[in-house]
Amino acid sequence: MRIIVCVKAVPSTTEVKMDPVTNTIVRDGAQSVVNPFDSTALELALRIKDERGAAGEDVRVTVLSMGIPDTERLLRDCIARGADDGLLLSDRAFAGADTLATSYALSCGISHLGEPDLVICGKMAVDGDTAQIGPEIAGLLDAPCVADVRRLVACDGTSLRAWRGTDAGVELVEAPLPAVMTVAKDAAQLRMPSICGVRASLAAPVEVLDVAGAGADPERCGLAGSPTQVVRSFVPERASGGAWIEGAAAQQAEQLLQIVEGMGL
Ligand code: FAD
Repeated sequence: MRIIVCVKAVPSTTEVKMDPVTNTIVRDGAQSVVNPFDSTALELALRIKDERGAAGEDVRVTVLSMGIPDTERLLRDCIARGADDGLLLSDRAFAGADTLATSYALSCGISHLGEPDLVICGKMAVDGDTAQIGPEIAGLLDAPCVADVRRLVACDGTSLRAWRGTDAGVELVEAPLPAVMTVAKDAAQLRMPSICGVRASLAAPVEVLDVAGAGADPERCGLAGSPTQVVRSFVPERASGGAWIEGAAAQQAEQLLQIVEGMGL
């Protein structure tokens, strides 16, 4: 069984710097961490590997990312926690991708790895926040997508069963493999790396591919392949100060009404 976990490097703080020219996030790599939803995705993959492995099945977990060269450091951390290997798509031509170009590039990486039984993504990334990549990958692979998995009940070599979130609550669904699954952050807690895992991660294979190596069409990658572009991003200015309203409740309400009316809303 082959499981691919999509792992995005995201800024570790809320102090995100934006490139004022391209309006994309400055990913200097210094503070990047694994998107928390993807840590959960990895843990679910490792649990399937543990369970199926105990039943004698060979399960391979590959972590896949599109990002700057420093992202290899995060993929190796995933390997230290139990993944088998990694693939990093890294090329300036991938930069500035919207969700369409990102899911296209990742699907090329997936095709390069062969036909997976299961692709697991986080439900969303904490920086981009669109929650579109998993369903888009499923569309590109022509595979069923189980989104917002809250609890994975079972996954063997032929199907998966899981509780997923809906607008109305949760529902239990079953999908045949190959499939794509996106997971909620609280579905599992990623295990710590073991000492053996850390040592193995230093020697484990992490393939790095550029656009040509991934067999991707450069016209569908990065800014060139992105019909959606962020026109402007900014941190909203917070108004400081304020006014105290004194007096009895009725007087306060009267003053408040005058202020609201004065706003011309
Ligand atoms: P999500 O769909 O939220 O991520 C879900 C999962 O997909 C992740 O948990 C992870 O498993 C996987 N994944 C996502 N990216 C990668 C990666 N690089 N490598 C490996 N796995 C990955 N794009 C648009 O198309 N439309 C917009 O309106 C838009 N607005 C944006 C606004 C801002 C402020 C910013 C910073 C970005 C915006 N983007 C937009 C760009 C979008 O965030 C990127 O395209 C990004 O590469 C993928 O989208 P996401 O982070 O929202 O992914």
